[in-house]
Amino acid sequence: MNAGAYGGEIKDVLISSTYLNENYELVEIKNEDHEFKYRDSIFSKKDWIIIESKFKVQYGNKEEIENKRNENMNSRIEKQPLDKPNAGSTFKRGEDFITAKVIDEVGLKGYKIGGAMVSEKHAGFIVNYDNASAKDILDLIEYVKKRVKEEKNKDLQLEVLIIGD
Ligand SMILES: Cc1cc2nc3c(=O)[nH]c(=O)nc-3n(C[C@H](O)[C@H](O)[C@H](O)COP(=O)(O)OP(=O)(O)OC[C@H]3O[C@@H](n4cnc5c(N)ncnc54)[C@H](O)[C@@H]3O)c2cc1C
Repeated sequence: MNAGAYGGEIKDVLISSTYLNENYELVEIKNEDHEFKYRDSIFSKKDWIIIESKFKVQYGNKEEIENKRNENMNSRIEKQPLDKPNAGSTFKRGEDFITAKVIDEVGLKGYKIGGAMVSEKHAGFIVNYDNASAKDILDLIEYVKKRVKEEKNKDLQLEVLIIGD
């Protein structure tokens, strides 16, 4: 899904992937054949199984790398609700708007359905604060989408992948 954060994405460091296709053949593709987009790649549309990927990382100063890593980790701890179970950003970044900001502006930070809650720390995350059922989470997602559409006329796209009913 071309994960990314703090200005980097998997597409920036990946050289190639080898996958098993629907005919049980091993196929190797280069970076440019992955059809990388924002949080998306060819593997989102196919039932292929990646067996291995090759990455090229840059050499650098160990201390600088550790400092950068700690900085990013501290920023996550500060801004994301890592203390409660969640699946990461529920919604994708908007093309012309900041998703968490519009959800916050319609007053949904801390809004709850059953055991699911729009995080009070980061409105882009839906957290399981008290034994939430899948239905609680799905209902809350729909409610957030509806309110943002009604009040901001923006369409939220899911970043999480919903499996099953
Ligand atoms: C607290 C938190 C913060 C996060 N922050 C970020 C962030 O800043 N940026 C960001 O981009 N994402 C973020 N995420 C999302 C995270 O990147 C994705 O959840 C990640 O891709 C999940 O990988 P996984 O292997 O754990 O999950 P999985 O559920 O195992 O896999 C994710 C998808 O890949 C498929 N898949 C898994 N293995 C293979 C394989 N071998 N071949 C083909 N397909 C496969 C699965 O079918 C599924 O569709 C965050 C998530 C959490 C929980």
